[in-house]
Amino acid sequence: MRIQLWKARSIPGYLICQIDEETDCYLSDDKHSVLVQTDWDYPSLASNFGFTPCANCRETDGTVDCVHRTASEMIQEAANFLDSKLGAIISDPGYFSQEVG
Ligand SMILES: [Zn+2]
Repeated sequence: MRIQLWKARSIPGYLICQIDEETDCYLSDDKHSVLVQTDWDYPSLASNFGFTPCANCRETDGTVDCVHRTASEMIQEAANFLDSKLGAIISDPGYFSQEVG
C-alpha cells in the first residue's frame, strides 16, 4: 500500500492519505487517512520521507535533545521538511497496515 503526504486543511498538521491502487488517487476520508497533529510526531513522520533529525549522531529520533541540537529545533526542521514534501508518495511504513478487515 502507498500513502501520500498532505497538509491538513484549516488546522495545523499533516494528513497521510492512502492511495487507491485502482484509480491512483488519494483517499482523504476518515477511514483512509490519518491526521498527524502533534508536532512531537513530526520528526518520525518526516523521517519516513527521508528526514534525518541529527546527521551528526543519528542518536535521536528528533523529539529528544542530543548533544548537537534541541528537540524544538529538530521539530521545526521536520515541519519545514514536510512542507517541502507535500504530495510525496511512499509505501506505507505502518500507518494503515494494522487495519482490521
Ligand atoms: Zn546529534
